Amino acid sequence: MKNTKIKKTLCRLDKHDIEENIDDIASIVAEPKYLCRKCARVATKKKYLCSPIKIKSLRLP
Ligand SMILES: [Zn+2]
Repeated sequence: MKNTKIKKTLCRLDKHDIEENIDDIASIVAEPKYLCRKCARVATKKKYLCSPIKIKSLRLP
């Protein structure tokens, strides 16, 4: 996967960050492996979330 310009967690992006990095964000959330327990955001890597938990470790209905 290509490197993104995003330095913060998705949880902390503001409206301006999102507009600037919408393509990168799309690739980060396209095939999520982690879920943020605080914000309910998802990402491919846990570094993009403030309180990540592996989606696989959760019991899906
Ligand atoms: Zn979060």
